[in-house]
Amino acid sequence: MPYTSSTLPKIKISPRGVTRLKSGHVWVYRSDIVSASGVLPGSLVTVADERGKLLGTALYSSSSQIAIRLISREPVADFPALLRQRIADAIAYREQIVHHTEAYRVIFSEADFLPGLIVDRYNGIVSVQILTQAMDTEPVRQTVLAELTERLHPAAIIERVDPRVRELESLPPRASGLLQGEKAATTFTMNGVHFHYDALEGQKTGAFLDQRENYAAAAQYAHGEALDVFCYQGGFALHLAPRCSQVTGVDSSRPALEVADQNAALNRPLIERGPEKNEIEWIEANAFDLLKDYAAAKRQYDTIVLDPPAFAKTKHDLDSALRGYKELNLRALKMLRPGGILVTCSCSYHVSQAVFLEMLASAALDAHRSLRLIEVRGQSKDHPILLNVPETAYLKCVIAIVSN
Ligand code: SAH
Repeated sequence: MPYTSSTLPKIKISPRGVTRLKSGHVWVYRSDIVSASGVLPGSLVTVADERGKLLGTALYSSSSQIAIRLISREPVADFPALLRQRIADAIAYREQIVHHTEAYRVIFSEADFLPGLIVDRYNGIVSVQILTQAMDTEPVRQTVLAELTERLHPAAIIERVDPRVRELESLPPRASGLLQGEKAATTFTMNGVHFHYDALEGQKTGAFLDQRENYAAAAQYAHGEALDVFCYQGGFALHLAPRCSQVTGVDSSRPALEVADQNAALNRPLIERGPEKNEIEWIEANAFDLLKDYAAAKRQYDTIVLDPPAFAKTKHDLDSALRGYKELNLRALKMLRPGGILVTCSCSYHVSQAVFLEMLASAALDAHRSLRLIEVRGQSKDHPILLNVPETAYLKCVIAIVSN
């Protein structure tokens, strides 16, 4: 079906919505929709102000609080062609900036001008996540799959479904599974470290690709006895092992630790290059309880990584999230020897970098430690940050050294 801007349904938005789009953002909330009667879920629409002046072309959701995601500030004559071009551009960007890895994010939703679409690559397996009504329509799915196949030649494409997102978008339930090919598991290498990947297991889309560059950065400074708290499948721990005399990983998820142990086996020669040929020790525990016990027992480390799940899922959780971050960081700081390295992360978008650093400063004061910042980092470059769309920047990773 050809799309032309004249035949597209038109949605009018309030002055507040107009201001938001003019400030460079691409979202309009439902409360700023003036009229959208009869517009079908997931439609391509034109967006106009109350007087009818056109502001661009967008994808419409009849259900989400984010009613409109702008896809172009111009009329769109051929939507499938635009999708194909945007996918080609996203792939070309990765060719330019992603190195030393077989696993990376190929498409990062708004930041790649493809709102509602996330695509990751793990060696020969491509994993697709669809987050909106518009991206879930059959013609869009077909176009996306055809373009990914043509450009990446994957052995398999799998879809990872987030049931909560489908519910929010009023989309019918759907199971995660293979869309193409037969292979759901593989191994991949990043920064010279090997990982198992099973497309249909694990949390999120598999590995935490957004930390890829932070793993390598942390490894540069890591030494001595290291503790990787919230270690999942061992991302940080495996990168630290060749530099450290002893590494312990802690997580509350047994399945994650089982994969971590398999990953350690894959990297045996690498780990044995370390100063002492110790096994990585994996501990299944609640991190808060464990840190409390270890701090009480006056345990000491030279390197501690803190990479908890997002504590602030909404801005209402901010205060309790900050208390959680502070407790973890305070305990870790107390356990670091002089010269010790703290690698502390937050993936909560609602905790800004400034607020995160303030929390850390306050934890250092309370712990009576002087902390110097070595690196203040964010997400890997394959998760680009689109200026004027602040929600695309979410990961903080601070590397600091305790001087007394
Ligand atoms: N550092 C990891 C990613 C961590 S994701 C990497 O780079 O791959 C957050 C992890 O925290 C998950 O593996 C989850 O199982 C774990 N987790 C959540 N709550 C926890 C708790 N209270 N104690 C210990 N682990 C927890």
